[in-house]
Amino acid sequence: MIKLIPKPAKFETRYGEFFIDKDTKIYANEKAMFAIEIFNELLAKHCNFKLEVVDNEKSAKLKFIHDINLDEEEYIIDCDTDVLVIKHATSAGAFYAVQSIRQLTKIDILNDATKLSMHAVYIKDLPVNKWRGFMLDESRWFFGPTVVKDLLDMMAMFKLNVFHWHLTDNVGWRIEIKKYPNLTEIGPYRRGTQNVAWGKPNEIDNTPHEGFYTQDEIKDIVKYAKDRNIMIVPEIDFPAHFVAAIASYPELSCTGKQIEVSPKHFEFAKIIACAGKESTYQFMYDVIDELSELFPAPYFHIGGDEAPKDEWKKCPLCQDVIKKENLSDEEELQGYVNNKLAVYLKRKNKKLIGWNEILKSKKLDNSIIAQYWTYQKDKRVIEHLEAGREAIISKHQAFYFDMPYLQNNLQTTYNYTHEKYGLKDYPGTLGLECALWTEWIFSGERMQFQLYPRLFAFSEVAWTPKESRNYTEFNERLKDFLPTLKAMGKIHCPLELVDSCKLKSIFAPLIFTKKDAHFEYKKAQEFRRKQMHDK
Ligand SMILES: [Zn+2]
Repeated sequence: MIKLIPKPAKFETRYGEFFIDKDTKIYANEKAMFAIEIFNELLAKHCNFKLEVVDNEKSAKLKFIHDINLDEEEYIIDCDTDVLVIKHATSAGAFYAVQSIRQLTKIDILNDATKLSMHAVYIKDLPVNKWRGFMLDESRWFFGPTVVKDLLDMMAMFKLNVFHWHLTDNVGWRIEIKKYPNLTEIGPYRRGTQNVAWGKPNEIDNTPHEGFYTQDEIKDIVKYAKDRNIMIVPEIDFPAHFVAAIASYPELSCTGKQIEVSPKHFEFAKIIACAGKESTYQFMYDVIDELSELFPAPYFHIGGDEAPKDEWKKCPLCQDVIKKENLSDEEELQGYVNNKLAVYLKRKNKKLIGWNEILKSKKLDNSIIAQYWTYQKDKRVIEHLEAGREAIISKHQAFYFDMPYLQNNLQTTYNYTHEKYGLKDYPGTLGLECALWTEWIFSGERMQFQLYPRLFAFSEVAWTPKESRNYTEFNERLKDFLPTLKAMGKIHCPLELVDSCKLKSIFAPLIFTKKDAHFEYKKAQEFRRKQMHDK
C-alpha cells in the first residue's frame, strides 16, 4: 500500500529507504523553483534545515528533470535508495511531486528531525479530471484571507485545482467594486444572522456580521492560488440571490424599493434584479469589467439558480422585453439575460457558468456551461451534454459538504461514479466540484469538521482512475493520514460518525432543516469529550 491521498494512477514500491538530510543537494530547472521553495519551507519548519540547489547534476541526490513528454499536471517520482528523480513538464507537475513527497515522508508530523526518509518507490501520476474544484460560500459567512489561504494550501496538498468563490448572495456582498462603492458600504453588513435552522427563521443571533475583500487582497489571493496550480473562478449570483446588491442600489430591482441585507436566509429572496432596465445590464457589465482585471480565469460564474419570477411577472419593463424579444415566458427572459452576459463575457475570452436550473431556457448560447448540483435528476443536463456542450458535476448527494454526514456520508462521496447518477463520461464533462455553503458554518473549525475527511475522499474521486479506487483501502490510508492532519492543527469529523446507519439517516435531513442545523456537530463534540474522558 502506498500512503498517499489521492492514490496515484500508477506506482510500484521498491526495496529500501531513501534519506534526505541537510547535506542533500538539489539539481533543478526553472519550472521546479516554486515547488522547491515550498519544500524548503517545510524542511525549515520541521527539520531546521534547507536544501541547496546546485548546478552540478552529479553531486545532487534529489533531481528535478524537465520532461516535455509528460502531461501538464503529470509527474514521475523515480526513487531508489541513492537518488530521487522527479520528472515533470510544468511547475504544476513539480509542485504535485513535492506534495506527494510531503505525504510520503510525513514531514508535517516531524519536530526538529535531522533527516527525512521515504520508501523507495516508482510513481507515474496524472489526474483523470482536468477540473477538480471546491466551492466556498463567503456571502453567508465571511472568513477572510487567512482562512482562505489555509484552504488553498489544503486544496493544493490534495491536488485540487479550481477554487470556485461564491462572493455574493442575499445575505452579503463580499468584494470591492470601485465603480459601485455602496456594494462595500452597505452590501457586506447585516445586523444579525439566522443561526438555528432553515425552519426557524425567527431565531436570530443579533451580533452584526460583515466583511469584504479589497481588490488588492483579491490580487494577492489569486496569485497565491496560481502558484499552487489553483485557478480561481468568481461567482456573482444573478439575477436572484442578489439582495445584498439591491440593498446597496435599490434601482437594480423591478420596484426600486429600499430593502435591507436581511439576517434571514429567505427574507426578500423573491426580489431579484430587473431584466427590463438597461442600467441592470450596465451594472453587471461594469462588475465583469472590474473582476476580469482581477481573475484571469477563462470562466465566470453567474449562479442563476433559484430565481423566482414573481417580480418579473408584475413588472411592465420586464414584460416589455418579453414582448419585444418575442420570448415565450419569464424562463426565456432569464435565458435572454444569460445570453447577453455570455456574449459580453466572450469578448473577454471567458465562458459563462451557471447552476443547472439555467437550462430551463431552451435557447441558451452554446458556450454556456452548466454546473449540475440538483438532488433530483435533471434530464436537461444529459441533453445538454449529449448535444456536445459542457458541464461540471457537483451532485448534491455526493459533493455537498454542508450537509450532515448522516445525510451525505463519506462512503457516498467516495463511491461516486457518473453512472450512479445516470451520467456518462461525456467529452463535455469538464470535471467534478464539491461545495461548502455556509448558512450554519460560523467558524474555521466548523468548516474543517464539515470538510475533513470528505474533501480527501473527493480528491481521490476527482484524481484517481475509477478502477483503482477501493473504499476499504482508502480508509486505511485515511487513518494513516490523520496524525498529519492533527499535527497541522486541524480537526475532522470523527471516523466513527462519517458513515451512518440507514435508520438514523432517514431522520437526519428533517432534523437538520427544520430543527437544528448543528445537531451533528454537537454530537461530535460530545463524542470527542467522552473519548477524552475515557482515555
Ligand atoms: Zn423588471
